[in-house]
Amino acid sequence: MKKGYNVLFVTSEVFPYSKTGGLADVSNSLPRALNALDNEVRIITPKYGPLDERKLQIHEIKRLKDLRVTVLGKPTKFSIKSSFIHGKNTKAQIYLLENNEYFKNKGIYYNPRTKKDFSNNDERFLFFSKAVLEILEILQWKPDVIHCNDWQTALIPALLKTVYKDNAHINDIKTVITIHNLAAQGIFPKSTFKKTGLPEQVFEEQSEGQNNKFNFLKTGLLYSDKITTVSPRYAQEIICDKELNKGLEDVLKKRKKDFVGIISGIDYLTWNPSVDKIIPYRYTYQEIPLKYENKRELLNRFKFEYNEDVPLLGMITRLVEQKGINLLEKILPGLMKENLNLIILGIGEEKYQKSLLAARKKYADKLIVHIGFDEELAHHIEAGADMLLMPSKYEPCGYNQLYSLSYGTIPIVRNIGGLSDTIINYNKPDGTGFKFDKYDAKEFLKIIKTALNIYRTDKQKWHNMIRTCMAQDFSWKASAKKYMELYSSVSGK
Ligand code: ADP
Repeated sequence: MKKGYNVLFVTSEVFPYSKTGGLADVSNSLPRALNALDNEVRIITPKYGPLDERKLQIHEIKRLKDLRVTVLGKPTKFSIKSSFIHGKNTKAQIYLLENNEYFKNKGIYYNPRTKKDFSNNDERFLFFSKAVLEILEILQWKPDVIHCNDWQTALIPALLKTVYKDNAHINDIKTVITIHNLAAQGIFPKSTFKKTGLPEQVFEEQSEGQNNKFNFLKTGLLYSDKITTVSPRYAQEIICDKELNKGLEDVLKKRKKDFVGIISGIDYLTWNPSVDKIIPYRYTYQEIPLKYENKRELLNRFKFEYNEDVPLLGMITRLVEQKGINLLEKILPGLMKENLNLIILGIGEEKYQKSLLAARKKYADKLIVHIGFDEELAHHIEAGADMLLMPSKYEPCGYNQLYSLSYGTIPIVRNIGGLSDTIINYNKPDGTGFKFDKYDAKEFLKIIKTALNIYRTDKQKWHNMIRTCMAQDFSWKASAKKYMELYSSVSGK
């Protein structure tokens, strides 16, 4: 008999169906890890634009075709398709919501052509949230808990406790919301609130400090039974640091006893150099020379020469302020004086893309810049680079540093959020990376120089660090158990 929980995991991104960042990776792996512990977690997400349904094995469900939900007073049609995410001995069912009005185009949050946020993001995710609650009666499967993620799904707890409070089929379902990034709150004008169908009292409850606006995430934090975020350190930071909690300090303090930070795990089938089918040479911690073959191929791919003594630094990132791109810009002149190569893979704000492309021209013999979202290149950089840079301004959990540990690519990170929780500084026993404290270009450059110095002068220490990194275990099992404890505390089961 199953001893765990039924959970509907509601999310706006799931790899490989859609991805802009770490949320997609969590949504792919956490449900499977929970299922491996005898829970039944099903995922539901919008299906953005056309997908290769044959390749992704997406199927129609007759019973869930041509459904309707009322948004803005008019019935809107949608269908639910089904697929499975498979891992080694793990799987999770995923429902993909198809709708021609809101999710016809490929973009997840913004139009990929204009790079502008969709002007109807409020309606898109309101529609999605309502549809999720509507299908529960038809699914013939009832969750104990609905697990929401970020602002896009944050209205579900409030809808459930007000609009759907008399619906005996679903009104006893508990809710959990996970904050993957507190900076994105989904703040809209009051007119958006009018579209939600929520009673006026909900607007009032969330209104303090909101300048007469409607804040999706804050509403979720007020109404969900439990709140989590993706690392213990970030949980502390967002309660205390006014710059980070962006007006949500009061609600986080108020909900403190229901709020917990749980570090995310990684999927060692996808991000593991010994089984990674994407990289040219697979390797274990006993085969570090093969890591250098990946480095050689990576450099050759960009017509750069390989030299064992010249370190290769990598960066894989959204090009946004959060990721410390302006710190990187500031140190580039100093960094490019060093004997090294740097490869940056990123996509995001135009101003950063432009300045990085200009830098590529200026430092053409040392700097590789690839603008785009490229999963394959991301794997190759993790395998081929010697060090990975993550000078984030803030970082809820961070995935790339965890992938770097797995590939023996030494992370150089700012000592904050999930980066702080997952990386041990080089000067400690079993150090796995290099940390700097202040968000300051000089400190960033200084720590890189410390790393370069060890790379050049102390090969033994460097190789020991690589092995220590590769021995770290950030698999999902431990985190999944913590989520189960949380489900237990809300469901009372
Ligand atoms: P965030 O979710 O804030 O973007 P994370 O470090 O938690 O940051 O997760 C980033 C994820 O997105 C990682 O899987 C990383 O490899 C991937 N990623 C980010 N930018 C790119 C890119 N330009 N191309 C390919 N993958 C990327």
